[in-house]
Amino acid sequence: MLVHICCSVDSHFFLQKLKEKYPNEKFIGFFYDPNIHPYSEYRLRLLDVQRSCKKLGIPLIEGEYDYESWLRAVRGLENEPEKGERCRVCFDKRLEVAAKRAKELGEQRYTTTLLVSPLKSQEQLRQSAKRIDEKFGVKFVFEDFRSFGGTQLQAKVSKEEKLYRQDYCGCLFGLMQQRVKQEVIMDEMIAPITRQILPASIEERLAMYQKRMELEEKGIEYSIVRRRFLNYRLLRGFVKVEKEVVPSFILSYSHLRRDYAKARIEEIIDGVGYANRDEIRIVDLAFVQKFIEVQSMHQLYFEGLPFVIEQKIRQEVDGEYSLSPIVVLDKIPNRFEIYIYALSYKDVEEKLIIKDQDA
Ligand code: SF4
Repeated sequence: MLVHICCSVDSHFFLQKLKEKYPNEKFIGFFYDPNIHPYSEYRLRLLDVQRSCKKLGIPLIEGEYDYESWLRAVRGLENEPEKGERCRVCFDKRLEVAAKRAKELGEQRYTTTLLVSPLKSQEQLRQSAKRIDEKFGVKFVFEDFRSFGGTQLQAKVSKEEKLYRQDYCGCLFGLMQQRVKQEVIMDEMIAPITRQILPASIEERLAMYQKRMELEEKGIEYSIVRRRFLNYRLLRGFVKVEKEVVPSFILSYSHLRRDYAKARIEEIIDGVGYANRDEIRIVDLAFVQKFIEVQSMHQLYFEGLPFVIEQKIRQEVDGEYSLSPIVVLDKIPNRFEIYIYALSYKDVEEKLIIKDQDA
């Protein structure tokens, strides 16, 4: 039986139950989810499904990430609510490709782990499958593992197995609606051109879940804990000297009183230029080179700095809990204009803790 897989939280439990119910059946996992956005989130969910299938001894096939084709399918339905028409089309697309793949592989039956997700309409899935079965001549296997305490058991399993528990269904449109409702920033859609890994970003989670797989392979014990902290995203910023935008690197946690200021440097102490407005500090490249090897401003603004180095520089320049704008320029100017549009907000991130091997 081919099993379309949406995510590890649903698939791990669903596959366990399928194995119990059909002990003589051979299952093939099929990860086909071009709805997932952004691509880094897709990689993260796939990584966790690979881990889960390996644990359960189920072979896994990755489908095509044909995002553009998914977008075309749901065009005009972007504002539909969850469980609405967009979701129906999304199910149709994923189940149709799963049914086709089942047929190609010579499997007569297929199913989907979406059936166990508490946020999905089983009836909608059943209707999608009915139309597809008629078209392709394969049989959809409907299983309700949600009822009679299934959902509670699923939550327990996902915690015990340390599965990656995403907090949105998958697509850009569902995510937008959810974040608007929650009145929180949609930081999943922010990635710096420097490719710097930001706190609580998808890229940070991906690196962490990759690391935990390495730990598991080496038999090293670990825990994943959550911490609450002040996060930051720079949305836009620039510095002008003599009316020209100059290469600059704005350190995280930089905030102006308003978004824009005109300022001049009043004094330079130990390589730090102190401006007359908004507690702005300017440092030059030589100052940054005390912390990390960096050749040019060009390298700095295209490659960025590791987040921990930024924090070390901030600590040295302005001390703890600082929100002063700190900017790196080629050299410290006399006068300048600065624009910073940035947000600081309460956030939660997961952290990997390696347990003491000798304890
Ligand atoms: S909310 Fe989920 S099921 Fe609905 S269209 Fe988006 S990804 Fe598909």
